[in-house]
Amino acid sequence: MAKKIIVMPGDGIGPEVTREAIKVLKAAGKKSGESFDIIELLAGGISLDAYGIPIREDVIDNCRKADAVFLGAVGGPKWDNLPSERRPEIALFRIRKELDLHLNLRPVKVYDTLIEASALKANVVRGADILVVRELTGGLYFGQPKFIESAGRDERAVDTMEYRTSEIERIAIKAFQFALNRRKHVTSIDKANVLNTSQLWRKTVSRIGRQYQDVGLEHMLVDNAAMQLLRNPGQFDVLLTENLFGDILSDEAAVLTGSIGMLPSASLGAGVGLYEPIHGSAPGIAEKNSANPIGSILSIALMFRFSFNMEGVARLVEHAVENVLNRGFRTADIFMGRPEEKKIGTREMGDVVVETLLESGPSAAS
Ligand code: NAD
Repeated sequence: MAKKIIVMPGDGIGPEVTREAIKVLKAAGKKSGESFDIIELLAGGISLDAYGIPIREDVIDNCRKADAVFLGAVGGPKWDNLPSERRPEIALFRIRKELDLHLNLRPVKVYDTLIEASALKANVVRGADILVVRELTGGLYFGQPKFIESAGRDERAVDTMEYRTSEIERIAIKAFQFALNRRKHVTSIDKANVLNTSQLWRKTVSRIGRQYQDVGLEHMLVDNAAMQLLRNPGQFDVLLTENLFGDILSDEAAVLTGSIGMLPSASLGAGVGLYEPIHGSAPGIAEKNSANPIGSILSIALMFRFSFNMEGVARLVEHAVENVLNRGFRTADIFMGRPEEKKIGTREMGDVVVETLLESGPSAAS
């Protein structure tokens, strides 16, 4: 039976990178004998323009019933001055909360061939391979109360950071389980010297860690972690973090790889999974055929891995991307002007990944 995929291209470069990701999804389907029923729906600024709200209830309902959800990116200057409850980003927060997508995975892999594209020195970034495990439905983004209060010129704004033991436990368990299949090390990030939520975080992660004797656990304050990521990223294997810290640190980690356009993500819970690149809608480069679609394409690999349990196909997509990079194909953000590099656009990058995927040996798809 065809798998039902809800696709929300969103705003800015969202539709451009989504188009390439879906081309790769279809090619990978062809390769593996899977068929897809792809349904495109509105979320973000485009939904605000059409319906006056960032996401409609029936869209969330459709996501809930799908086999997987793909999102491009939402937001842009056109909607920046709307009140916070009507901003395009609300679409994302609602989907995450309604589908209970509390586990956000952001693999950060430095490709040898892109080492020169990183703003950091080659000897610092070479070999870095980090799995950011970010809590996605708690913390400052969701805690209540949350408001802006007008009192003349001296307005007051409040956000609340809140975590429960159960929320920390479930994400910590996942982090240790992932570490078991990697280099067996978890670095848990917090601000336990200042924040109550971080003290609960540290206590809970330590307790869970004792059940995973084969996995090393280190606690690190978030300010130090921000520095260590740039100083010595090779020390990190699984990086476990709450919502806001993870948002910031994973954008920082993108610098290791050469561009934020390279990084994919998976958001998982008990039901359907959501897949999206970690970048935003990059309005400055929208509709120029210059955005890097690799983060979106690699998100399709994660969809095969986590929603369809098809590890072979996931690897096929990842190998195709690596092969294309090794052959020198580059979008503008990762182009260094070296003679062996070929600068191409968003569409052409999608095309060359599809061609490479279709030409690759069938055995890996098993
Ligand atoms: P951004 O990630 O859109 O862009 C940051 C920088 O990275 C920009 O210089 C941009 O040109 C570049 N960039 C991003 N993606 C790229 C790609 N695929 N290829 C090449 N370069 C790329 O972050 P921002 O500028 O802070 O935010 C722009 C809008 O996106 C805002 O409205 C913000 O709220 C929204 N946003 C949405 C999401 C999401 O939908 N998940 C995430 C972050 C930001």
